[in-house]
Amino acid sequence: MAAPRSDSEKRKQISVRGIAGLGDVAEVRKSFNRHLHFTLVKDRNVATPRDYFFALAHAVRDHLVGRWIRTQQYYYERDPKRIYYLSLEFYMGRTLQNTMVNLGMQNVCDEAIYQLGLDLEELEEIEEDAGLGNGGLGRLAACFLDSMATLGLAAYGYGIRYEFGIFNQKILDGWQVEEADDWLRYGNPWEKARPEYMLPVHFYGRVEHTAEGVKWIDTQVVLAMPYDTPVPGYKNNTVNTMRLWSAKAPNDFNLQEFNVGDYIEAVLDRNLAENISRVLYPNDNFFEGKELRLKQEYFVVAATLQDIIRRFKSSNFGSRDPVRTCFETFPDKVAIQLNDTHPALSIPELMRILVDVEKMEWEKAWEVTKRTCAYTNHTVLPEALERWPVTMFEKLLPRHLEIIYTINQRHLDVRDLDRLRRMSVIEEGDCKRINMAHLCVIGSHAVNGVARIHSEIVKNSVFKDFYEMEPEKFQNKTNGITPRRWLLLCNPGLAGVIAEKIGEDFVTDLSQLKKLLDFVDDEVFIRDVAKVKQENKLKFSAYLEETYKVKINPSSMFDVHVKRIHEYKRQLLNCLHIITLYNRMRKDPSKSFVPRTVMIGGKAAPGYYMAKMIIKLITSIGDVINNDPYIGDRLKVIFLENYRVSFAEKGKTAKGVDSLKLPPLPAGGSVNRDRSPAAPAQREATPRTEPATACTSLLCRYNAREYYERIPELRQAIDQLSSGFFSPKDPGCFRDVVNMLMNHDRFKVFADYQAYMECQGRVDQLYRPREWTKKVIKNIASSGKFSSDRTITEYAREIWGVEPSAKELSRGLLVHT
Ligand SMILES: *Cc1c(COP(=O)(O)O)cnc(C)c1O
Repeated sequence: MAAPRSDSEKRKQISVRGIAGLGDVAEVRKSFNRHLHFTLVKDRNVATPRDYFFALAHAVRDHLVGRWIRTQQYYYERDPKRIYYLSLEFYMGRTLQNTMVNLGMQNVCDEAIYQLGLDLEELEEIEEDAGLGNGGLGRLAACFLDSMATLGLAAYGYGIRYEFGIFNQKILDGWQVEEADDWLRYGNPWEKARPEYMLPVHFYGRVEHTAEGVKWIDTQVVLAMPYDTPVPGYKNNTVNTMRLWSAKAPNDFNLQEFNVGDYIEAVLDRNLAENISRVLYPNDNFFEGKELRLKQEYFVVAATLQDIIRRFKSSNFGSRDPVRTCFETFPDKVAIQLNDTHPALSIPELMRILVDVEKMEWEKAWEVTKRTCAYTNHTVLPEALERWPVTMFEKLLPRHLEIIYTINQRHLDVRDLDRLRRMSVIEEGDCKRINMAHLCVIGSHAVNGVARIHSEIVKNSVFKDFYEMEPEKFQNKTNGITPRRWLLLCNPGLAGVIAEKIGEDFVTDLSQLKKLLDFVDDEVFIRDVAKVKQENKLKFSAYLEETYKVKINPSSMFDVHVKRIHEYKRQLLNCLHIITLYNRMRKDPSKSFVPRTVMIGGKAAPGYYMAKMIIKLITSIGDVINNDPYIGDRLKVIFLENYRVSFAEKGKTAKGVDSLKLPPLPAGGSVNRDRSPAAPAQREATPRTEPATACTSLLCRYNAREYYERIPELRQAIDQLSSGFFSPKDPGCFRDVVNMLMNHDRFKVFADYQAYMECQGRVDQLYRPREWTKKVIKNIASSGKFSSDRTITEYAREIWGVEPSAKELSRGLLVHT
């Protein structure tokens, strides 16, 4: 039975969600019952909570259909420039609540479900996450889809429909254990398979140079089956498409050539082809040169480009000349954005289609390709850069290898031999490799980093030579997140109190949050914000106590650090901070401390030894501190199991010290010092107190031992790790962690220890109810820049050459219901 809803919850809903119309409520109830009966074939005596979730999902989905069809029809008729966002990852999370929010029907559904004697929140929790991503890169793609639909762009997301998304993380005895993410087990109510649009993708084979041109022959074919998912804009009647490809073996797979006579074996072998879309590679910022991954990358590129070209040819523009499609206009009608180098094969594949298939001259084809493609760089970490062995290419994609060689020869116009070697797409050495980032930079008209400082590093280090040759190519597009999911949906209470002050327009124009600066001293507003925060923390505390059997002090500072576990992401620095706080509490019993609940969460790549050790370290520290009666509830350390999009939504409402959804760090860049956790939104705006350190300084010839010997509290923490203080059952447990920190720490954790401790000390000083809330309000007011709507508007104007339109598609014109 549904719990009675509190008055404050109703108030929030009224202020942001609109008032439920009675007729609409009855319609949702009817539709729910109809789907329970006809779609799920159940009555209320035998229906499970999951049946109720599916019945509601179908009832909500029905409201997308007319808008979806009409939006696509509108694009066909008007033929605007299409934006194609190509990504190996779309970290979408759940869809039900997001759809209700964007269609403005959450309140109506809440009321209908309540009248049916059910609880909407409970049903929402049943939905599986679409975990088709690892972290920031995949979530960015998902936020961008929301913003592109909200801004009325004719945009498409293209990717792979992995049968298994990012693994589920279990913690056993403090260690991470992976479980397969069988997210499609109960079916996916949001996707529509389109077997009629299946396309062939070729692999292997050989190249023949004939008088009529180049032929790629004797290939093996795998079919790409599209599955479409609707992407609704926020209350604008626009519904775009995310098209994900699934691998299907052709029906004659292995029947003619190989297993003649062994029919059973041939059918079983279909798995080989279909393995291409089986599972997401679980690496974040790490390149693993597996052939199956290269197959995935070509699979999505080959299927997507066929689809793009089919749509171009069927449009008014492409087919104006009925005899020969005019491909010179292709870049005026098509933009392809490459989410990192993962879909980099788009460049040689487009060249192959234009030159080998469409018989275009090489130079013309190259101009078209360059004007069409743009590349987003996400990292400068060397181990993350894709460098494929030439031998693997030669076998799997022989024609593409030839094309890449030609691109390298013809379009790398460099005289200086040393520079030429540095800039080559082909890296010489024991194992010749293709540098995919170099291919992307050469084959794109725009290259962007994802934060101001990152884009500077891109120009001054990894792509320095390229920047000097073509400076006009290089841009910055600071990342953002969608305010629909990350504010309206996950923190309706906060959205409600904001709306009371500045109206609802901030939902699609987040820069309006700066109006809140007028209310920093408004006592009523301060109290309202503090109240929402306290309610969220209480709810989250109850969840934590239930889940982790740890007593939580809900008025303690919530110090949340959630992201993929990686040596560069500073979890070890956080551990050293926690250990130091613990040692101070034990050393000075009479001193008062600001109580903290530290929560750390994130997945480690299954093959990343040190990341898995970091998880064991966090859980081990927690075991000692949480069970020390001396400490009580002044310090708790909890590892948040299975951090994912739906969990981030939970955590975002409750965070105290913020490290959630910050603007990105310069991955692998300089050591980050003097970052104020209390002022996240100002990270870009605030000049660093210490500039990038000159090479004469202590930092450049980093010597961990100097810090260890000079800073007693740091030494004590490290000695405790060495002696097994936090791992009494296995004293040697953390020797590899200590050895790394002391002898080969690429990320120079000790160099940041002191500044980090001091900064956290200032945070403690600030943590007084009223002052803290005022800081929170200031931070909210200056966070408006980090909307993905702003990011996408910049991509649209500065890379794609299109203008976003805030105007909604007229409902009368567009929607048949
Ligand atoms: C936003 C998000 C990320 C990226 O977080 P960073 O702190 O930028 O690394 C990773 N995982 C999930 C589930 C997210 O929602």
